[in-house]
Amino acid sequence: MLTKTKIYLSSPHMGGSEQKFVDEAFATNWIAPLGPNVDGFENDLKNYLGGDKCVAVLSSGTAAIHLGLQLLDVSEGDEVLCQSFTFSASANPIIYQDATPVFIDSELDTWNMSPELLEIAIKDRIEKYKKPKAIIAVHLYGMPYKANEINAIAKKYDIPVVEDSAEALGSKYFNRECGSLSDIGILSFNGNKIITTSGGGALIVGTKELKDKAVFLSTQARDNAPHYEHSSIGFNYRMSNVLAGIGRGQMEVIDDRVEARRKNFEFYKKHLSQFNEITFLEEPKNFFSNRWITCIETESFELREKLRLELLKDDIESRPLWKPMHMQPIFKNYLHFTNGTSERLFDKGLCLPSGSNLSQDDLQRILNIIINTLKL
Ligand SMILES: *Cc1c(COP(=O)(O)O)cnc(C)c1O
Repeated sequence: MLTKTKIYLSSPHMGGSEQKFVDEAFATNWIAPLGPNVDGFENDLKNYLGGDKCVAVLSSGTAAIHLGLQLLDVSEGDEVLCQSFTFSASANPIIYQDATPVFIDSELDTWNMSPELLEIAIKDRIEKYKKPKAIIAVHLYGMPYKANEINAIAKKYDIPVVEDSAEALGSKYFNRECGSLSDIGILSFNGNKIITTSGGGALIVGTKELKDKAVFLSTQARDNAPHYEHSSIGFNYRMSNVLAGIGRGQMEVIDDRVEARRKNFEFYKKHLSQFNEITFLEEPKNFFSNRWITCIETESFELREKLRLELLKDDIESRPLWKPMHMQPIFKNYLHFTNGTSERLFDKGLCLPSGSNLSQDDLQRILNIIINTLKL
């Protein structure tokens, strides 16, 4: 009997050279959080991002956001404005720093931080408390946020922006790479992301001095002395040379991965846009999404759930869109500036399987179930 294999939302997809770089690390005994693969991977990322940024590879994207907030001196009593429609890892590091998150809702064109609400929130906080210490904006599902508008507001009030590009390596905004659009950028190489090192992340900064400071903090903040001397609190956040080897291999195929994910989106759109019950998020002019995950908005919560459960019956993983942070039990008591967008998307939106390694048969199998469910 033919048994069907499980289809995942987004699974790792190795290119071929990863093993070679990992073998090299073993052959030369560079099994440490430093070595040629760490330098090589940082260099690959730097070049990919346009060459004028400095990159430090770390143990995770979450660690990168945390270090970013450290570099900006975010601490107790500070407020940080954070996109509400995101994964919790965007917001958790605000709490690690004993600071206070303030959540900002999304706009319709990109599903990302609404520039309008951002400015309303900044004015409100300045009037009622003090100027927020930082802004965390997210290129969710690979769709760039409106960086020109967000950066202009940030500049007007002199507030730095942390660009959460965990889901958007390979996305472009007016021809510039996501991750390099603001003061501090972050990437993730977790297993479900567009490229992976099994676990890992990167911090992207504008100067060598900031990178050196980030590396210093990420390797236990050891001062220059023959013994272990410490005058600040450090972290163990550096990426290992073994995992950086996987990253170097993945960077050889990043463009193929983006192309494959965009093709998934085109496939779904081509076959499903005839159904009025389903809509897709289009790219605004000069926005280029890596289409990390293809998302659909359905006409109702009931239809969303019906689709999800029918797919599940056939061992196909799909998932509701991110639950907004201002609705999460752990964050619901923090201040938020909302307009209903992220709540509506959470209610009616569904992430479809989007791996770059989906076969044509996989896509057809998913499509058949969706179409059959819509015709029920
Ligand atoms: C994955 C992700 C992160 C965290 O990255 P990790 O490497 O898993 O720590 C942060 N923000 C967003 C939006 C993410 O999707």
